[in-house]
Amino acid sequence: MITPAAPSTKLPQTGTTIFAVMSKMAAEHGALNLSQGFPDFPVSEELIGLVEKYMREGRNQYAPLEGTQALREAISAKMQKLYGGRTYDPETEITVTSGATQAIFTAITALVKEEDEVIVFTPAYDCYVPPILLSGGKPVFVELKAPHFRPDWDEVKKRVNRKTKLIIINSPHNPSGTVWTADDMRALEKLVVSTGAYVLSDEVYEHIVFDGAEHQSAARFEALSAHSMIVASFGKTFHATGWKMGYICAPKALMKEFRKVHQYIVYCVNHPMQAALADFLGNEANYTGISSMYQERRDFFIKALEGSKFKLIPSQGTYFQLLNYSEISRKKEVKFAEELTKVHGVASIPVSVFYPQPREQFVLRFCFAKGEETLTAAAEKLKAL
Ligand code: PMP
Ligand code: GLN
Repeated sequence: MITPAAPSTKLPQTGTTIFAVMSKMAAEHGALNLSQGFPDFPVSEELIGLVEKYMREGRNQYAPLEGTQALREAISAKMQKLYGGRTYDPETEITVTSGATQAIFTAITALVKEEDEVIVFTPAYDCYVPPILLSGGKPVFVELKAPHFRPDWDEVKKRVNRKTKLIIINSPHNPSGTVWTADDMRALEKLVVSTGAYVLSDEVYEHIVFDGAEHQSAARFEALSAHSMIVASFGKTFHATGWKMGYICAPKALMKEFRKVHQYIVYCVNHPMQAALADFLGNEANYTGISSMYQERRDFFIKALEGSKFKLIPSQGTYFQLLNYSEISRKKEVKFAEELTKVHGVASIPVSVFYPQPREQFVLRFCFAKGEETLTAAAEKLKAL
């Protein structure tokens, strides 16, 4: 009998995602889990009722490959209402996906070939680089510099060349909470129009933008939208991260390539949830109040932290708050996050892991999508340090 050898890895630098590591550590040590980003409050009863209704009505077999007609139409209408700009044809330019993660993996796999370069801004959410590597592409990193984590367009221009196939952007930005301005998007537009690069715009936090700022979707900018694939997540928008539902919008020619891959990754996604989401999206009140709800939570958490030695780095969007701990400890971020979880009972995410080589800036990310009791208890523990 031949014992199979361990396979040679296709992802030598990749370990287990930090979100799984920290959530597990939090559970094992009974820590308050402000690490992995997920809300601890319930999904709308109405939305749950709609899923149940459609299950009972028999929507339990495969949905169309690209998603139900009703949901694609509702997404197209929402994009038009919120962002104006480009109109997305539900037939050919919108596909419903199993969360943003699958949309991102599929888009990168569909577009990136051997030797293609892909611009990735760091700190970068961790699902961008692996599919680039699996496709034989080369990530080219451009740093968003602390403490403000804003893009430096001169720096970006230097890294873009004729090999650049794709530029991945993410605003509101995870983990920093920075929101890109219309000027940022115009600078990007100028760049892609002159080079022909495509853009993958990860807009999963589109409905979580604070202090009166507006989300600058790539869809708002005519020339930019012609180059862009825009990814969104119902998990973020409707506090249902466990449902793994999302979508992607892109011009027809890009979507044609996307669907070629999508059909063999999942074929289609959860049918009764699509039927329910189509109805739920019809009422804009279901998503317009999300920013203010999260802004209250951000402000509550900040207030609860008053008097602590952690220094705040302003959060303009997302449900994350960065805290600098340099006045408390000079330990490396992973070590300090581990200690905070195991000894002090609060789990967070070390920002250093979002860089190709750990970048030690004494910064941790805390998720404030939690009830007041949890935020108060976490702030008390943090203030004791
Ligand atoms: N992009 C970013 C920036 C995220 O924070 C997340 C987190 N969930 C995703 C993509 C993935 O979204 P989903 O859960 O819908 O797959
Ligand atoms: N997006 C979530 C975060 O940033 C995690 C999602 C996941 O665990 N894959 O915390």
